[in-house]
Amino acid sequence: MLASSVMDYHLYSLRMRASRKGKHVSGAERIVTGGQILPTSNNLIARAFNLSGNVPTEVHFIAEQIDPEHISYMALPNVTTWNVSSWQQGRSAAAKLLEHSGIGQSVISQAFKLLTNGPSPSGGVMRGAVLLDAITGQRLETDLSRGIRVSRMDLAPEYSERIKAQLSHFGLAHHRTLEALILAGKVVGAPGLLAELCWSDDPEYQVGYVSDGKNGYQRISMLKPVGDPMGGRVFFVNRAANSRIDTLVSYLENQVVLFNQLGTVHPPKNWIS
Ligand code: AMP
Repeated sequence: MLASSVMDYHLYSLRMRASRKGKHVSGAERIVTGGQILPTSNNLIARAFNLSGNVPTEVHFIAEQIDPEHISYMALPNVTTWNVSSWQQGRSAAAKLLEHSGIGQSVISQAFKLLTNGPSPSGGVMRGAVLLDAITGQRLETDLSRGIRVSRMDLAPEYSERIKAQLSHFGLAHHRTLEALILAGKVVGAPGLLAELCWSDDPEYQVGYVSDGKNGYQRISMLKPVGDPMGGRVFFVNRAANSRIDTLVSYLENQVVLFNQLGTVHPPKNWIS
C-alpha cells in the first residue's frame, strides 16, 4: 500500500528498458498517478521478461516524480489507416506520404535503406530514433548506436479511460497502437520536425506509419515482410525552422507531454496505386 499523499496527488514517469548482452531488446514507459503506480510498474517489468526467446540480461526501471508546472497538454493527432495489399505497396504509399510532408526522394530512399538494413552502425536496430536532416540526409544524432529516445509522454490520467474507449470503438486500442500514437503525437509537436517514419523491429508486426503536423498519424497496414527483424524510426528535421538540434532533442527526451483529447479518426481506406 502506498502512502496516501503519493496515492492521491503525485504524477510519476515510470520507465523500463531491457537489454541482452549490451543490445537493446525492449523499452516502455507510462505516466500515472495514484493507484496505478504499483500495477503499472509491475506491468512494465513483466513486459521486459515476457519476450519469447529474448531473455534480458539487464533490466533498468526508474520512477521519477513529475513537476505539474512542467507539463504540456496536447490533443492526439488525427488518425488515418491505409490498407495496402503488400509491404512493397506500403513502402510506395509511405514514400508518397513523406513527399507530401516535404521530404525529397533521395532522403526518403536513404531512410528506407537505414530501416531495412538496421540503422545502427553495427547494422542492428537502435534503442532510439534516427534524426535526419530533411534536405541533406545527414544524420544528426550524437550517438548513432543509441539514437534519440522520445520520453515522458502518455495520456493524461483523467482522460485515459475515455480516450481508450473511443479508440477501441475504431479497433485501435491495442497498447502497441496507443503507444505509437502517443509517441507520434509528441514528435509531430516538436519544433522543426517535418515528419516521422516508423516500422517495428518485431518480426511478426508489419504495421508502420508516417506522421506529420498536417496529416497526422497515417497507419499503413504493411511496411515490411513477415519474419524481418529490422525496423526503427526516422525523424526528418527541417533545419531552416530549427537549427538548434539540442533544443529539439531536449524537447523529445525531457518535455513532459500529456494528451487530453483524441483527434479525428477516419475510417480505413484502401491505398490505390
Ligand atoms: P517498436 O515500435 O516498439 O517496435 O519500436 C521500433 C523501433 O523504434 C525501435 O527499434 C527503436 O529504434 C524505435 N523506438 C522505439 N521506442 C522509441 C522511443 N521511445 N523513442 C525513439 N525511438 C523509439
